[in-house]
Amino acid sequence: MGTEFKEAIHEAVNNANLTGALGKFSEAYKVNRAKAYEGIDFEELRGRIAELKSFAASHLEELSAQFEQNATALGAKVFRTCDPAMVREYILQVARDNNVKTVVKSKSMATEEIHLNAYLEKAGISVGETDLGEWIIQLAGQTPSHMVLPAIHMTKEEVSDLFSKEVNERLNSDIPRLVKVARERLRPMFLAADMGISGGNIAVAETGSIVLMTNEGNARLVTSLPRIHVALVGIEKLIASYADIAPILKALPRSATAQLLTSYVSIITGPTPNTDGSMKDLHIILMDNRRSEMAADPKFKQALQCIRCASCLNVCQVFRLVGGHVFGKVYTGGIGTILTAWFDELKKSEDIQSLCIQCGNCKEVCPGKIDIPDLIMEIRRRLVQEQGLPLLQKAIYSVVNNRRLFHTMLRAASLAGKPFTSGKFLRHLPLFLADLTDNRSLPAIAAEPFRDLFKKIRQPECTEKAVFYAGCLIDFAYPEMGAALIKILNRAGIEVVFPEEQTCCGAPARYSGAYEVAAGNAIDNIKALLSVDAQYVVSACPTCTVALSHEFISTFESLGQTEWLPQARELAAKTVDFSTLVKKLVDEGRLSLKEGRQLGRITYHDSCHLKRTLHVAEQPRELLGKAGYELTEMFECDTCCGMAGSYSIKMPEISTPILRRKLQNIKDTGASLVAMDCPGCVMQIRGGFDQDDSDIKVRHTVELLAEQLED
Ligand code: SF4
Ligand code: SF4
Repeated sequence: MGTEFKEAIHEAVNNANLTGALGKFSEAYKVNRAKAYEGIDFEELRGRIAELKSFAASHLEELSAQFEQNATALGAKVFRTCDPAMVREYILQVARDNNVKTVVKSKSMATEEIHLNAYLEKAGISVGETDLGEWIIQLAGQTPSHMVLPAIHMTKEEVSDLFSKEVNERLNSDIPRLVKVARERLRPMFLAADMGISGGNIAVAETGSIVLMTNEGNARLVTSLPRIHVALVGIEKLIASYADIAPILKALPRSATAQLLTSYVSIITGPTPNTDGSMKDLHIILMDNRRSEMAADPKFKQALQCIRCASCLNVCQVFRLVGGHVFGKVYTGGIGTILTAWFDELKKSEDIQSLCIQCGNCKEVCPGKIDIPDLIMEIRRRLVQEQGLPLLQKAIYSVVNNRRLFHTMLRAASLAGKPFTSGKFLRHLPLFLADLTDNRSLPAIAAEPFRDLFKKIRQPECTEKAVFYAGCLIDFAYPEMGAALIKILNRAGIEVVFPEEQTCCGAPARYSGAYEVAAGNAIDNIKALLSVDAQYVVSACPTCTVALSHEFISTFESLGQTEWLPQARELAAKTVDFSTLVKKLVDEGRLSLKEGRQLGRITYHDSCHLKRTLHVAEQPRELLGKAGYELTEMFECDTCCGMAGSYSIKMPEISTPILRRKLQNIKDTGASLVAMDCPGCVMQIRGGFDQDDSDIKVRHTVELLAEQLED
């Protein structure tokens, strides 16, 4: 990771204006978006959008040709090209042929993508942005930080400084006054412009129409006042039929700004008359710039389902901390990382891909149904494939891949960590390890790992068996969680088996893009966990559960390895998370919790993998409630705690403020106990509270339930 990039992150997270504005916006956005979608079946709606956009992505060539034919028949001039340079030259040529001196533009990410403004200005043509946000950043000499709200990173005071310089008069930061100033400056620009340049939210092949959705009406003026209109449209905006506009029109404003509809929707079907009665010169450019290549890539084709609503940025915890400029490119946030890797080049996404904490928030809200975190993982995989792993990581994974050596080293670490251990925590590690305990204490490595403890636990012999997959954290840091799980399952008449050959689930390797290493871990675990004839494979770690139930399969598929796929599927079918299994046992009457007790107030933290990949949220709440805890929900109970495996070590600048926010949300509930289903989250949150000397207890649900079993 480059020093410049690290510095940019540091600067962004310490910019109170930026984090304050984005934090407030994202909090309000979630509430407003939920209201905007009230009464709408979002899953059904995004299913339709994904389907129609996926169809379009599979037929880009045919739809482009159909669009060209229909728009040309109406009198538009359609230019199709793969090459951004050709787009720039075409527009300049049109401008020169018509003696254009001034251009007005409405907001268009495609023109940003090809750096059109700078190119035209270099050729002596004056270019004026007319979207308020775009105009602000043009005056500031910046690039947009957000796809929909380009100047969201700026305060009204910063804007008033910019406008004051522009009008040569000291303005205060009164927003209506600033808007009035903008209007007064922009109106003459519209009237004087020789050419208007717009983008297009949608291009309809069936009718040759362009659809533009705006809130300020500027796109309508840009496309109707000047005698020449050039629309630059990426071919991913193509849809087959006019009827396909409706679902996009329904989702785009709701997802973008939580509006039911934008103030203006313009559908341009062929040239329109100028005020003098002559017809407008309408040019529509269909730009490919690697979109067809993307459509041919089975993994990345889905990225063309994007309708550019920026909902994924609005819910991204990392984006709300660092803003858009850290991404350093035209497109920002998670989807921006993917588009940069394609429209720019894979290498350009090397630093920015590391920003993603893999929380899955974006995937949940994307109206195009794009699995953004998965595509970012694929970028990581391809980067590793192209460039290899850094030496340190290579060394680490060679140890992790050798189960015996890995476990021996963990045992040795338990002894080595003793001088820095206080109670159950490692605090203030020395020298180059100091950063690891800077912002939260780490758990001490257990003196007796679960694999040793297991041999001492006496269990009843039962016909029904469950294989327990402990994962590294329960095995080597929190063996008591494993013991609690055995106690619960034994009580339901299930014997727990612990195959010793199990090893790391491969998540750290996979999340670093080292899929070959992750595949090695997957094979070792499949062999171990399927070696016993058991009804369930149960884990009390959601990250491990996701590895066993989803990621072993997708790792093999990504690598094109088919040999272990049937066994990976067999394992996935048996794998269950702890809370789901216990809830089932309680519902079946096989397990009883002491009911009718009042154990006090508790709050619950949803781990990302449990909530958004396994879709488990109610089960632990119900069980804790049954056991006698009174649940008080915290604000943003399902946002990440900043742990995300090695992310907290690689990106402490981002992980720490995320953790701090989580700790504050927990404190605000007034509860003295916070429960969660993930040992990784326990490690992060417990470590954070330990550094704060807080009395708030952090427990895994498995421990709390084991204490409340009916005798
Ligand atoms: S990826 Fe999804 S959420 Fe993000 S801009 Fe595109 S459609 Fe919207
Ligand atoms: S997975 Fe989370 S961190 Fe990554 S892009 Fe999506 S919302 Fe942002």
